[in-house]
Amino acid sequence: MKIVLATKNPGKLREFLQLAGEAGSHWLDLVLVPGVFDPEETGSTFLDNAIIKAKAAAALTGEMAVADDSGLTVIALGGRPGVYSSRYSNGDEALGRARLLAELEQVGSECRDAAYVCSMAVASASGEILYSAEGRWSGRIGFEERGSNGFGFDPIFYMLDCNQTVAELPPERKNALSHRGQAWRQVLQFLEQSCQTG
Ligand code: IMP
Repeated sequence: MKIVLATKNPGKLREFLQLAGEAGSHWLDLVLVPGVFDPEETGSTFLDNAIIKAKAAAALTGEMAVADDSGLTVIALGGRPGVYSSRYSNGDEALGRARLLAELEQVGSECRDAAYVCSMAVASASGEILYSAEGRWSGRIGFEERGSNGFGFDPIFYMLDCNQTVAELPPERKNALSHRGQAWRQVLQFLEQSCQTG
């Protein structure tokens, strides 16, 4: 089954393929969206943005498309950076982490609760949204960085009930637990069912 992944990021394609392999979904032919692809992410929720990207990729290619949108929501910051997570770091992940720690210190809240959220949307070749899914990974923002795996906020995102950050996890373990892994496995299940029902 051919599906276009609505991103220009080959790293993301690799991660999606690895997860599909781990889930035994070898029937999937997932390819990067070709050509120029940079739809404006104007949505106010992760799902809105995933839908915008899935529809844009389907319109561009005339193929079925899947898109994701994800970010970090921090309770003491009213859910920010949320859909603005990548813009918050402005291309410099270390700076983004430092900015977040400084903001939390300024707010002075005892609450460090946070969650990674990932929404995914599947669009048909004609642009109709066929399915959507959400994954959520709760944790808390620590006070110091630990670990060197992962990316973005992982070195300061501590998992619940253990003194370990996501950046200390091997990639397969992160995939098994992550917001992205959770959402993608739901989408894979939907796609497999649609394959079977024709
Ligand atoms: P995107 O939806 O994959 O483009 O991610 C948007 C932004 O959310 C990233 O640039 C990161 O700042 C943040 N983010 C999303 N998922 C993760 C994750 O698994 N680890 C660390 N940061 C993440």
